[in-house]
Amino acid sequence: MNILVTGGAGFIGSAVCRLLARNEQVRVVNVDKLTYAGNLESLQAISNLPNYVHYNADVCDDVAILDILRREEIDIVMHLAAESHVDRSIDSPGAFVETNVVGTFRLLNATLEYWRALPADKQLSFRFHHVSTDEVFGDLPFDEGIFTEETPYAPSSPYSASKAASDHFVRAWHETYGLPVVLSNCSNNYGPFHFPEKLIPLVILNALEEKPLPVYGEGANVRDWLHVEDHARALHLVAARGTLGESYNIGGRAERTNLQVVEAICDILDKKRPRTPGSYRDLITFVSDRPGHDRRYAIDPSKVERDLGWKAEHTFESGLASTIDWYLRNEWWWGPIRQQKYGGERLGGKIEGAA
Ligand code: NAD
Repeated sequence: MNILVTGGAGFIGSAVCRLLARNEQVRVVNVDKLTYAGNLESLQAISNLPNYVHYNADVCDDVAILDILRREEIDIVMHLAAESHVDRSIDSPGAFVETNVVGTFRLLNATLEYWRALPADKQLSFRFHHVSTDEVFGDLPFDEGIFTEETPYAPSSPYSASKAASDHFVRAWHETYGLPVVLSNCSNNYGPFHFPEKLIPLVILNALEEKPLPVYGEGANVRDWLHVEDHARALHLVAARGTLGESYNIGGRAERTNLQVVEAICDILDKKRPRTPGSYRDLITFVSDRPGHDRRYAIDPSKVERDLGWKAEHTFESGLASTIDWYLRNEWWWGPIRQQKYGGERLGGKIEGAA
């Protein structure tokens, strides 16, 4: 089984590559152009394995992609490569259209050409899995509603609009050309190897460095959190066994306000790395809200639980504690990123924005 993972040097893609590479019967082909968010250090544990390879390529480069598909005789494509940070999409939406929309279109075209030339039995078993986000469904009121697979799309940010567009292209390539696709839409992820501009690692590292912990608005926005390793297991199941043409909502049944998340991190750090004097909560600072900030996301994961037998193994509390332990032990990974690219004041105003 040869699986091509796009964006395999990113946060979720690297978790998927690490999970898949455990199985010697699977060859993991990581295609990642290594933007600021891509980091091969996240793949250190598998980079020397004979069943893992990385290609430094852009999903927008359909010629390169087609060549890799043929050379590696790919059986499954798992498409994760994307620009993923909402705040960046507000500042510079062009890159999001380029990678998330045009890149997905080019990847679909290359995959279709490859798939059409496969022998009949290979065509039958081939699958293209598109990895998307719950943000495509838009804004939920604080006190009612939940995203199911039937919820209409209503994206609010340039990021979620670009992901929604890519989801539509993927469905269209199934309906129009018969490409065997499956989709998934997941809630906010957290866990090890998470780039330090996103909420949870940002707060952990700012706290350790005694920097302000800026919270948008009143911190009331609600997100539904899932540990990245639970997501990776779900993605593997969806890619291998999901019904073609369908989508699966993936989430951890763990809705928390941003303020609850930040306070939970402070409370865990107060125990593990006590601050003298005071609590890490004293560093919390409220900053003006992000434009177009959706109030609440909440995922109903019943379908993936029922049909594919998936269930989140981490509770938010156990997953957050182990994530904090990971950041405390792994400064070799995040230290250079904080120093070289995102140290100092640039982090100050950015607080929310896990994809
Ligand atoms: P990430 O930003 O950590 O990683 C993205 C990876 O894609 C990086 O390694 C980057 O180098 C690579 N990449 C970017 N543009 C590329 C291009 N043109 N060609 C090849 N590689 C390119 O993102 P993530 O958080 O791991 O998210 C992965 C996917 O999961 C995205 O599609 C995202 O929309 C989706 N998702 C993320 C979350 C979340 O909470 N992080 C939740 C639901 C869905």
